Amino acid sequence: MATRFENGIIVTLGSNSQVLWNGSVVIEGENIVAVGEPSKMRQRFPDAEAIDCSGKIVLPGFICAHHHFYSTMARGMAIPGEPASNFVEILERLWWKVDRALNGEDITLSAQIPLIECIRNGTTTVIDHHASPSMSNGSLDLVEDAVRQAGIRAALCYEVSDRNEKGEGIGENERFIKKTGKGDGQITAMMGLHASFTLSDETLEKCGGIAQDAGVGCHVHVAEDLADREDSLNKYGVPTVHRLDKMGVSGEKSLFAHCIHIDESEMDLIAATKTSVVHNPESNMNNAVGVTPLFGLLRRNILVGLGTDGMSSDMLSQMRSAYLLHRLANRDPRVAFLEAPKLLLENNPKIAERQFGIHLGEIAEGYPADLAIIDYHPPTTLDETNFLGHLIFGLVDAIVDTTVCRGKILMQDKKILTLDEERIAARSREVSPEMWKRLESL
Ligand SMILES: [Zn+2]
Repeated sequence: MATRFENGIIVTLGSNSQVLWNGSVVIEGENIVAVGEPSKMRQRFPDAEAIDCSGKIVLPGFICAHHHFYSTMARGMAIPGEPASNFVEILERLWWKVDRALNGEDITLSAQIPLIECIRNGTTTVIDHHASPSMSNGSLDLVEDAVRQAGIRAALCYEVSDRNEKGEGIGENERFIKKTGKGDGQITAMMGLHASFTLSDETLEKCGGIAQDAGVGCHVHVAEDLADREDSLNKYGVPTVHRLDKMGVSGEKSLFAHCIHIDESEMDLIAATKTSVVHNPESNMNNAVGVTPLFGLLRRNILVGLGTDGMSSDMLSQMRSAYLLHRLANRDPRVAFLEAPKLLLENNPKIAERQFGIHLGEIAEGYPADLAIIDYHPPTTLDETNFLGHLIFGLVDAIVDTTVCRGKILMQDKKILTLDEERIAARSREVSPEMWKRLESL
């Protein structure tokens, strides 16, 4: 049975992006079957269910290229001891305790809550990086179940780190990669690695080899803090990117998150290996770690995408943070107006295509039916020439009304249809004090 989303402003994006006032998008099964004028679409698809989108703008669903679902229960938590004064202390005092404290039910709830927030924000595809060292084996199945229930798409991996490694993390990635195979368009797998400074040559080489044999990419944090660069230089005599590349971790399907403390030769190597970079501006500002050399990367035609690093599931606000951060950092009000939206709307779909093997991020016949339908009455004219102005200064604060992924309506009239938001949040409030108590004793 087909569905017509009609009377909205359709922004197709893609290589031939068009703005269609009063348009209609028809979907059937998992795909878009037609885009055009509502009267013509009514003629062609008279039996389709009609959903009125007047007063709304219809966009392709957003993609988050770096997320950590597992971080959910840190929200509102008091961190024991003195405030962390640097990035390594943030990891030691917060994240390496949060992940260790998680049990099976926590993993499920910690995934379900950001998945609900993804749907609320029109985010229909996520590349996640999971850690739960007290329960690594089978943890990706729990995350997968939550993703399938929510109805969005996700590329999943488990964070291997020598602070935990007795083989379980590597085994969990290997098991899940084997189980997932080439992926089914909804769930796909990567090899997850924490970062150069917590991984020995032996572990890195082993993981790089498994990923290459399976034809999957590695998803790793790179030079997020100066400590990662200094560790690599001191212990191995080369900067982080060179070390990772030597260990077989870079490549067209691999994702390097952050890449803040890298030099020109590392950028050249990222470009030469066609590795993608994921920029996470809000997280970088939150951790006070520095600013990714965005323009140096883009000048080399490196595919730079945008992620939230677990800070939120809202990609439009992340896009605006990138826009604001790079204008301030460069003290130049001429920059980032084109680049920040490009990371989200052009590059994230290309990164997702490398993982899922499908073309996302465009509303056109034959493409997947992933849509974010947002309440928006443009206060000025809106067309192809000025869409970015509306995106950065208007849509970023507008409310998503309806979210569609794989042809299925996941939220309509702002009501989540696939997960019971109230019950899940209530249960999370119930179990999180126990999780916090376990964490204090770590
Ligand atoms: Zn991260």
